[in-house]
Amino acid sequence: MTITSIPHAAALTPGERATLDALCDCLFPPGEATPGAVAIGASAYIDQALAGPYGGFLEEYRTVLHCLDVAAGGRFTGGDSQLPLVDALERNTLPGLLSNPDRSSFDLLIRHLREGLFSDPVHGGNRDFAGWKAVGFPGAQFGYREEEQQVDHRVDRAPQSLAGLSQDARLPGLPKTTPRAKIPAHPDILIVGGGAVGNFMAAKFVAAGLEVVILEAGPSRTGRERSMDELLATAFRNEGGVSKFNDEVPTWRTGPNDRARRAVMSQGLETALGGNSVAWGAVAMRFYEDDFRIRSATVEKYGESRIPAGSTLADWPMSYGDLEPFYEEAEDLLGVSGHAGNREHPERSRGNPFEAPRSNPYPMPALRTSGLGQLFADSARAEGYHPFPLPAAIATTAWKGRHACTYCSFCSRFGCHVDAKASAQNTVLPAALESGRLHILTSARAMEIVTDESGRAVGIRYLDEDGQTQFQPGGTVIVAAYAFENSRLLLLSRDKRHRRGLGNETGQVGAHYMTRQQPSVYAIFEGRTLNRFIGPTAQAMAIGDLSGDHFDHSDLDFIRGGRIAAFNQYLPTEASGVLPPDVPRWGKAWRDFFLSSYNSTSMLFIDPEILPYENNRLDLDPNVKDRLGRPVIRITFDIGDNERKLMQFLQDRAERIAIGMGATRTWRRQFLTGPISTHDVGGTRMGNDPQSSVTNGFGEVHDTPGLVVLGGSSFVSLPPVNPALTILALALRAADNIIGQSSKANRSGRGARA
Ligand SMILES: Cc1cc2nc3c(=O)[nH]c(=O)nc-3n(C[C@H](O)[C@H](O)[C@H](O)COP(=O)(O)OP(=O)(O)OC[C@H]3O[C@@H](n4cnc5c(N)ncnc54)[C@H](O)[C@@H]3O)c2cc1C
Ligand code: SF4
Repeated sequence: MTITSIPHAAALTPGERATLDALCDCLFPPGEATPGAVAIGASAYIDQALAGPYGGFLEEYRTVLHCLDVAAGGRFTGGDSQLPLVDALERNTLPGLLSNPDRSSFDLLIRHLREGLFSDPVHGGNRDFAGWKAVGFPGAQFGYREEEQQVDHRVDRAPQSLAGLSQDARLPGLPKTTPRAKIPAHPDILIVGGGAVGNFMAAKFVAAGLEVVILEAGPSRTGRERSMDELLATAFRNEGGVSKFNDEVPTWRTGPNDRARRAVMSQGLETALGGNSVAWGAVAMRFYEDDFRIRSATVEKYGESRIPAGSTLADWPMSYGDLEPFYEEAEDLLGVSGHAGNREHPERSRGNPFEAPRSNPYPMPALRTSGLGQLFADSARAEGYHPFPLPAAIATTAWKGRHACTYCSFCSRFGCHVDAKASAQNTVLPAALESGRLHILTSARAMEIVTDESGRAVGIRYLDEDGQTQFQPGGTVIVAAYAFENSRLLLLSRDKRHRRGLGNETGQVGAHYMTRQQPSVYAIFEGRTLNRFIGPTAQAMAIGDLSGDHFDHSDLDFIRGGRIAAFNQYLPTEASGVLPPDVPRWGKAWRDFFLSSYNSTSMLFIDPEILPYENNRLDLDPNVKDRLGRPVIRITFDIGDNERKLMQFLQDRAERIAIGMGATRTWRRQFLTGPISTHDVGGTRMGNDPQSSVTNGFGEVHDTPGLVVLGGSSFVSLPPVNPALTILALALRAADNIIGQSSKANRSGRGARA
């Protein structure tokens, strides 16, 4: 296992370090039964990180420490003024602090402190597992038994560091890439982005005999890197690990007349082979049947007036039936576990009774139900709902060379140490590479789609690993670089026929952007032990009763709905920032709250349906550029009145379920939870009408022959379901279409490249 740990050196002078120590012990003070931040090693961690990966923050730290010393009249290390000064630091009113419109110095510091308290000791903090012992988290365990997931079971394990873990050498190694000199000059298919879409499409093309080149901006990897490492998989990734994406983080404003600022992203996006098929949580759920004709279904039942003002809601250019075979194919390739719903007899269903018709059961049975999931299911059932386990692309039995899930604690955002969670690397890539017809060029960052005199896409201009500009031709050019980059590449690629960008003749590129909001409800079960740190995120019980139009909206003032679910995975660094409104972010009150509630806190996750609106879109930021001088994407996004009303409705219902589960305290997240969510969709909408869409239902760009764009950017609407399975089904259907065209072309003697 590769571990990039922090070097054991220090950046601060002894005087600065003494001030940092004093500050850290104010933020997380020693208690009667628990050591404080210094004894846990959090300040040592920060000092070491400043000498390594956080070196870019050193001057900011020096400024903070200096300001504290000056404000304390010399030295901050003692005296009564400490707490008021930390208070001023938090309120950003301490004289001399650096100004940053995106976050305060305190925000940075408290995040680093939490990392030093609760991340794996391999990084220099959490000395002797003291942080983990304080909250009862056993760390990097290979997996857990079913009984350990029961509520009120006391998990009695000695904490373990990821430093001691090893991996099964029989799992697939590093995917083979092709050096630039050996990349075919004229492949049938050229794909930008070696993520979920790129690899699954490529596998299908090579199986049909086509030659494929993938240009991937990041490096190759097995997909098991950073497994079980909360720090590297989250904080570092967001802060600097994913260099390309972090360099081009979109800006965000809520209205077209506002100035945009750097968007805060909760998860970060992967720039490496496999894309987000490695980091994902693997919830693999189909859309509902009427999700593909929301507009018509709404108008038929409730009338045109119920379409929210300003919404660009439309039907999809295909039906659920058109996509069903490709859902099947995607589920089989991924190895999805789940229980099928029983529509005729919902009372007998172990699955989701609202589920659309399926040709076959899931390839494997569902993940087991945790104690917390059972609590949720019992309470939801008492409310009249139909709880079901979320389907997941996680093996529950040995499956095509992958191990079954061990129910460890590190799933969504992490590589899986046993390959139970599907990624491109452990599903489609080995056979596709084996064919000899797939060539992956890594460190190849697409800059522009190139067209010929006739306006047809003929290749990609990209930067190679030495920063040199290269041109790669391709028969059909497919852009599959995630929602933001899909729109950005189209807008940045211009020729004399496409002066506003490819696909943008009617100004549709970037339009209809939607992103998931998660206005969830938190719940504390005082005195109970939930053991929610065990098991994958996807090991969740959910209800579909309040999604779509599964309940009557005649007397309601909104349309559509959302999903409520109780997810697993609750890791201490992240959890230490989850606080009710009356608990401060630092000090004794924070410490006491977190230590006593970590293993008693749950969240009822709400995924509301988000509709498209005229004002919500992506475009190129006129003011902010990346390191290469190219404009970043600017997001204009706010939630509509319809969504506000349905979120209120869902929060009320979720709170009732939580109370039925025995919650002693609940609180609600705000409605607008940010403009980037990992469910970022729209921007290159599919449709039959070029006036209101960029591509047809196969991802073919209306105004640019030879160019196909696919991903969440193709979505027409954002139902309350995780997007990747539908993204893959659309991609596999589009691949079928291209293969069909190329064999027709071959039959007529024109060859695949015609
Ligand atoms: C933490 C996390 C959890 C998630 N959980 C779930 C879940 O449970 N269920 C679900 O359905 N979805 C989930 N998702 C979303 C899901 O992973 C994505 O929807 C899916 O991966 C999208 O596939 P894609 O191929 O469009 O993009 P990606 O998989 O992101 O692939 C894009 C690829 O393009 C490359 N690239 C980008 N720009 C360029 C360029 N200019 N040149 C060359 N290459 C480029 C990137 O390096 C990357 O490899 C999650 C995502 C994250 C981050
Ligand atoms: S699928 Fe997730 S929970 Fe299961 S073993 Fe893999 S990383 Fe751990």
